[in-house]
Amino acid sequence: PDTPPVARLSGAGVRRGHIEALRRITLTLGPGETVALMGRNGAGKSTLLSALVGLVRPSEGTVRVGDAVPHRAKPRDLIRRVGLVPQEPRDLLHADTVAAECAAADRDAGAAPGTCRALVSDLLPGIADSTHPRDLSEGQRLVLALAVVLAARPPLLLLDEPTRGLDYAAKARLLTVLRALAADGHTIVLATHDVELAAELAHRVLILADGESVADGPAAEVVVASPSFAPQVAKV
Ligand code: ATP
Repeated sequence: PDTPPVARLSGAGVRRGHIEALRRITLTLGPGETVALMGRNGAGKSTLLSALVGLVRPSEGTVRVGDAVPHRAKPRDLIRRVGLVPQEPRDLLHADTVAAECAAADRDAGAAPGTCRALVSDLLPGIADSTHPRDLSEGQRLVLALAVVLAARPPLLLLDEPTRGLDYAAKARLLTVLRALAADGHTIVLATHDVELAAELAHRVLILADGESVADGPAAEVVVASPSFAPQVAKV
């Protein structure tokens, strides 16, 4: 029997000011599926993630992830409820130390104490408990945010440019972790300019241009050939 989707956008559009940041997007995310969103700056990738989380509401069509979005929820709660690791995790991280951040994440999520900290240790070996999140590098902060989000066992894992600011070793560790999460059944959406990341992890690639879907297919068939990500669809 068909398993129900984890999330679905049907003809979804989002207006931001005078701009139609997203138009007529239909996308179904199945259990265990990894989808990469690609496209130029301003194409609408982050907006699509925000729509899935409920941070922006569709002006047309529908966006559905689990139960209806609670009315007047705080951004931080929405982010953790659906599972977004934002590009700048300011909205998510609030404690003074890595240990406190993780303790709060476990507590808020009802996770076993040490859940978040163990994830951080796997991803960032050598980070001290007493480190202030502000003193982490961009890439390290992203990894901390990932651990905080995962502690809440969200239905989705939405990552906005997760390899930005990561050095080679950190990126390799992140790839290993994401691959394991995918194998574990997590549904993952990556908004990324990183062709290597998309090729390595995504089952499907959706290419956005000016808010519209211009290519959608198996990663092996949607070839992002141009450095400016002009979409080219080719059968390989
Ligand atoms: P990038 O690769 O640079 O992150 P993106 O593909 O994620 O880009 P979005 O950030 O979703 O693109 O932006 C889509 C469109 O919506 C752009 O035209 C952008 O200027 C606009 N936009 C994004 N956020 C806002 C906002 N808060 N208010 C008004 N317009 C916005």
